[in-house]
Amino acid sequence: MSIPSARTRCCSTVGVRIGVLALQGDVSEHMRAFRDALGGRGAVTAVRHAGAIGDLDGLAIPGGESTTIGRLVDKNAMRRPIEEFEGGIFATCAGMVLVARDVDDPRITPLGLIDMAVGRNAFGRQRESFEAEVPISGLDTPFHAIFIRAPVATRVGPETTVLGRVDRGIVAVRSGLHMALSFHPELGGDRRLHRMFLERLQDTR
Ligand code: GLN
Repeated sequence: MSIPSARTRCCSTVGVRIGVLALQGDVSEHMRAFRDALGGRGAVTAVRHAGAIGDLDGLAIPGGESTTIGRLVDKNAMRRPIEEFEGGIFATCAGMVLVARDVDDPRITPLGLIDMAVGRNAFGRQRESFEAEVPISGLDTPFHAIFIRAPVATRVGPETTVLGRVDRGIVAVRSGLHMALSFHPELGGDRRLHRMFLERLQDTR
């Protein structure tokens, strides 16, 4: 049996349907990043209501304000459909807070999709925003990561794989089809993490 090359796997992401949760946050940047990563071989849509979730292969939960996104998820009756979603979730920053099992802020009722504990705004005021080269498992060279009032994971469960960490804690994980990142890969031009997510989805189709 031949092992497919990275290129073959990249270009076999034909027909993948990605939705970006479009309640608040940097939605258009995620849509552009996934369109780039798919290179025209898939569809990217903005998701504003529960009925749009079931047909997707992947759902991105963007950065923004996790208290606000969480409130709007409930207001739009999207909590149950997201919890029951069988595809992959790509969660960044505020999204990483929401998909955790435990969050250090009682105002958040997390979705509990990834077995990890997350601390919000983990870098404090001095380093509210910064950029760093973060080595990521599975990438040949470090990822130029943009952190904006970023969370970190402070605990991960046995089913959760750590992909990257910085001095304050864990900043990239995967669990099954899901990925969660403290930083904002959609804001730079590097699409390797979006492609990593898409390749795993394609493998299961
Ligand atoms: N600090 C924000 C929160 O916890 C996340 C910031 C972001 O998504 N850039 O909601």
